Amino acid sequence: MSEVGKAQEPWQWDEATWRAKIARVRAGRSLKPVRWKGSARCAVALSFDADHETAELRYGGQSVGKLSQGQFGGRVGSPRVLRLLERYNVPATFFMPGVSALIHPDEPKAVVDSGHELGIHSWIHEFNSTLPFEAERELAFRARDTLAKLSGKEPVGMRTASWDFSDHTLKIIREMGLRYDSSLMADTEPYELLEDGQPTGIVEVPVEWIRDDAVYFNMDRASATRPYTSPDAVFDIFRREFEMAYQEKGLFVLTMHPHVIGQRSRIWILEELIRFARSLDGVWFATHADIARYCAAEADLGTTMPPPSVSGVRRS
Ligand SMILES: [Zn+2]
Repeated sequence: MSEVGKAQEPWQWDEATWRAKIARVRAGRSLKPVRWKGSARCAVALSFDADHETAELRYGGQSVGKLSQGQFGGRVGSPRVLRLLERYNVPATFFMPGVSALIHPDEPKAVVDSGHELGIHSWIHEFNSTLPFEAERELAFRARDTLAKLSGKEPVGMRTASWDFSDHTLKIIREMGLRYDSSLMADTEPYELLEDGQPTGIVEVPVEWIRDDAVYFNMDRASATRPYTSPDAVFDIFRREFEMAYQEKGLFVLTMHPHVIGQRSRIWILEELIRFARSLDGVWFATHADIARYCAAEADLGTTMPPPSVSGVRRS
């Protein structure tokens, strides 16, 4: 077999090759504001990924048991979370797959009518990076249109399923005219996304697996190992993440799932976090869209940004 056209091993790459790989999507300038809205010291953005049944449908939907666990998310988890948020008058963002929204058609409207934000979270929790460009694009638009129709409000932000990002995801986000993404992890503070080294005007509201309830609580019945973290330990991790955000006058983003945090033995974690944050001065509870809009305005970001050219989309 000739060497020509043969894929190189990473250790064979020249500098231009590995530099181009990291430059595809990268953190640009920090959008951490000097002060948060209302002169707040710290911002808290709570999010709930309402995957529900799509967590199993994405794998083929074979397990009735797992589908029932997903149904719990829409039937019990989300209403319980919404009641708690209402009790403390805290706004949040719900990221919902299009199929979840169609299975639970009252949830998108309940979320928006309660003053929360509804964001795009894939069509059926598909892995973006496994899809051809046309399919990824079509599913993203279909998901957005479905959420807009059911909620009466056009989404302005996206969180990809499993925070999976393809070479095309950012181009699709730009083509959709979204304000922000919340799927990447280059910082704890908001930042501007660069595409191939160029500013995009898109705000990243960054996530981390450390601040995700599913990491600590998901149980796979078929797995030989069943890692388990006690709710007290999870609360301790989240509280420490928040405390340091407060010290640094920064942003605390937390990802939860209604079918995970919405359980009786866990919902208190959320309640205690809210109470703790409320006990301190200068904490701004905001949706992801609020954060993105505020940071963009403070940084005078993207106001003159031209729309991306679709013909520039890389096909791999
Ligand atoms: Zn999800």
